[in-house]
Amino acid sequence: MAETKLHAIMIAFSFQGHITPFINLALKLASNGFKITFVHTEFTHQMLSKAHQDGVDDEEEATNFFSKARKSGLDITYKTISDGFSLEYDRILNFNEYWESMLHDFPSRVDELIGDIIKSSDSSLVPFLVADTFYSWPSTIANKYNILNISFWTQPALVFSIAYHLDLLKQYGNFPSKGNDQEEQIDYIPGVGPISSKDLMSYLQDKDTTTIVHQIVYKAFDQVKFADFVLINTVNELENGTLLALNENQPTFAIGPINFSTDFTKVIVPKSLWVESDCTEWLNAKPTGSVLYVSFGSLAQSNKELTEEIAHGLLISEVNFIWVLKTDTDVLPDGFKNDIKDRGMIVSWCNQNAVLSNSGIGGFLTHCGWNSILESIWCGVPMICYPFFADQPTNRKLVVDDWKIGINLCDGARVNRDEVAEKIKRIMCIETSKSLRNEIKKLGNVVRSSLDDVGGSTRTNFDQFIKDLKAKIYAK
Ligand code: UDP
Repeated sequence: MAETKLHAIMIAFSFQGHITPFINLALKLASNGFKITFVHTEFTHQMLSKAHQDGVDDEEEATNFFSKARKSGLDITYKTISDGFSLEYDRILNFNEYWESMLHDFPSRVDELIGDIIKSSDSSLVPFLVADTFYSWPSTIANKYNILNISFWTQPALVFSIAYHLDLLKQYGNFPSKGNDQEEQIDYIPGVGPISSKDLMSYLQDKDTTTIVHQIVYKAFDQVKFADFVLINTVNELENGTLLALNENQPTFAIGPINFSTDFTKVIVPKSLWVESDCTEWLNAKPTGSVLYVSFGSLAQSNKELTEEIAHGLLISEVNFIWVLKTDTDVLPDGFKNDIKDRGMIVSWCNQNAVLSNSGIGGFLTHCGWNSILESIWCGVPMICYPFFADQPTNRKLVVDDWKIGINLCDGARVNRDEVAEKIKRIMCIETSKSLRNEIKKLGNVVRSSLDDVGGSTRTNFDQFIKDLKAKIYAK
């Protein structure tokens, strides 16, 4: 048989929390000898271009984000695809219209592109598809072109498992939700210990179950059941029981934390959708462990009341802080910037990993996005949790209730400044946060050893995935 090379066609999802792990997965596959065709939407391309224009060395790099990766020997071709809207169109303001179209019109564009990629590829290349689980089209398109379909999930296995078993939730009467005041224990999801209905993903707690977000989730979890393999950005040791149970349904591999794998750390590919403020110098001047990092990720919007209570909580607590505020700083209380003097830095975006790994950081007030949690575990920074929506309430349960590496921002329904200050002081004080720090340090070591070349669970899983993928592709 003539020599062949496996060719992963990868279409990225357009949110920051998906883009970073997806690019890292592409780099990892490429460093394992695969050919990659990596596709961003034109809109994502434009965002990345704007955010990274200062760091660009030549013309090629400005248009091909993988040119440095190619020069380092990785076989990655970069393409873009239109999402059907102009670059000026506001995808946040028109969220429903945009995602309706992504659900119903985008698949035919992807179909055409994948057809073209396959047609124009060298005959020695054997294509397969790698797509974000949230996409609605992977199994249909993989079927059409008779190629294998790998689904990549960027949230914890726990969240995957709950959404995967939506039928069970319906059968037991826990979905649609009966309403917030009726808290119930759910103890029938395979591989998932008892979980309160209030810890389910927000879209499972909503009264209206017909929104565009629901349609995306329903479609995604119909489709994923036909995937040949599922890859999850988690670690065996973090979610072993859940992963074992998922494997009963479909071959599922924990390959996280993908953003920290070491085999491609020197390869530079633009990943951040916004310009990053450099906090290093400011942080370096602060005493070890004295700075609280506050960020609610790329999507969650802090409202005026919450911003005010956090601002006053920060003032009362008297700790140093870096606060990522994506909204206008007009929402801050009068005089806030004067009052904080040099003890606080407010930025609209930063390099979160550089911040979290700086020894000046002592705590993280987070919305509980899964990437942020993994990054915090990696850096040994205990968390104060304030989940907003989607998987965040469920992720909070892992952090606070199961792993005991974080605390809740407020115990009641409303956020108030005195409690905020009290929680900040508790997490920033070495004595009162001792056990959280011990636990997160232990978990960080477990996560780091999962990447060990010999015996690390993630290393082993990734090797096994490649072996099984090759076996299945060549058996076709
Ligand atoms: N992030 C960043 N700079 C910031 C805030 C966030 O680089 O100022 C990164 C963070 O490191 C993480 C991602 O954005 O990798 C956010 O993903 P996550 O899953 O935590 O939350 P999401 O944005 O999806 O809600």
